[in-house]
Amino acid sequence: MDSTNTQNTQNTHDAYAGPHFDMICVGVGGGPDEGNLSSYIFKSHHQPWDDGCVAIDAGSGVGALSRAIRSDISIVDDLREALPGDEYEGASSKADSNDTAHKKVTADTRHDTDSYRLASRIYTSITAYLITHPHLDHLAGLVINSSIKFGACKRLVGFEKTLKGIEVAFGGLLWPALASWASCGGLVERLQYMQIEPFAQFDVPGYVHDAGSGSVSGTPSHTANHTFSCTPFPISHGTVGLVADARTRAAVQVEKDPNEVYDSIAYFVEKHSDSAHKWQKSFSFLFWGDVEPDAISTLPRNKPVWAEAARRFVLDELRWVWIECSYTNARPNHLLFGHLKPDLLVDELQTLAIIVERFRRMGVEQLRSVNTSEFSVGGGSGSGSDQGYANADEDITAAQHNHTHSPIDNALDTPSHPLSHQASQAVNKALFGGLNHASRTGYNEGFGVHRHTTSRPLQGLTIAITHVKEDPMLGCDVVGERILSELESNPATQNLGVRFYRPKQGERVTF
Ligand SMILES: [Zn+2]
Repeated sequence: MDSTNTQNTQNTHDAYAGPHFDMICVGVGGGPDEGNLSSYIFKSHHQPWDDGCVAIDAGSGVGALSRAIRSDISIVDDLREALPGDEYEGASSKADSNDTAHKKVTADTRHDTDSYRLASRIYTSITAYLITHPHLDHLAGLVINSSIKFGACKRLVGFEKTLKGIEVAFGGLLWPALASWASCGGLVERLQYMQIEPFAQFDVPGYVHDAGSGSVSGTPSHTANHTFSCTPFPISHGTVGLVADARTRAAVQVEKDPNEVYDSIAYFVEKHSDSAHKWQKSFSFLFWGDVEPDAISTLPRNKPVWAEAARRFVLDELRWVWIECSYTNARPNHLLFGHLKPDLLVDELQTLAIIVERFRRMGVEQLRSVNTSEFSVGGGSGSGSDQGYANADEDITAAQHNHTHSPIDNALDTPSHPLSHQASQAVNKALFGGLNHASRTGYNEGFGVHRHTTSRPLQGLTIAITHVKEDPMLGCDVVGERILSELESNPATQNLGVRFYRPKQGERVTF
């Protein structure tokens, strides 16, 4: 650990001391391989699967997980003993006394069946799906898997717009209406919508354990022993944009506003403090849905997310960020369609580094009181409204003219004032002041003020790369390795001190 990090942690009471989370990467690609689409399942590292686990997106589903388990059963080692095996052993010994061909078939079937049963066991334990956005490569597995009832009813979590998108799939025409807004009971009670609001923390429903029976028969509930809470931040994933009209072949607007942004969500997932395991604070990770860089967005909304990530990182409560990097640097910016590529991701991380540096100059209590939702352009929290965001750069710029030096310095020079609002406002102006659309491309390069000055400010942080779009000629892994090497060889990367990691499909990551 370098001196920067030591300085950071000396203010905090207990260090990260992980791992705290287990994440199975059911699908890590961004298409077109339908067997490897964005799909992740996590649980507390300290609790068994049957205590409840949570999915983030579900492009691929139980079939992909079962194939992953078949190729490496060790990823669910902690579940193997849950399988009764007597009937299969009986079949095997019968085969012994008959012919060897039958024995072989029986053995293979056992293997396949086991991996499918283990995958089903995990899907049965899912209490909620955190959906980042309703694009099919994040939803298809959920829809297809809903033809079977995997245990108790699960919550489908998202903003109003997210859930409206999912409703299209479950509208009865594309697929039967197997998701509902209210508890409907019976066979069709499988998926229930749960609307959340931007920046508003919520508890992820957990299981109510049935006394004396297996916990998987329990019902996910708000009142249950929930393990996780989440804070969702709205982010931009390109524009709804133009579509080709199938009849006229002309490009037509599907919406009146050509700049209408397609909403996606970045989730901060937080595990509560736990006296049984002797930690007093919360630990979290950040998972981004598909997202475009602020540098080229019509509605840049990434900075509040980085501010919140920086706050948790400096408090030593967060060490992993999962974020997409769909393309290599060869992809031109105008063809990114709401996604990231390595150079622009590193540019985003420069923003994170700048905020981390500012936050390291604050005291712990001061930092805890910062409300990062106020960092959103236009401010406000929980309104669900994006109105006013696009013009707010200019408002902040105007306010900035009244300051002769960085307003954050004013805030930091005053040790004992109530900081909950003032610090947020000061940091907001210091970080976002002066940025406007025209100067946004490569803005971190161009702003002497907006550049990190300490060495390796992101030391200790891992950036996990998701949503690699495969090339039909190269496949997902080759493109993924190229993206990773472009990230690592970026001249700014070494100075940031950040570590990049590319999770593979079927991998179980503990962190
Ligand atoms: Zn998408």
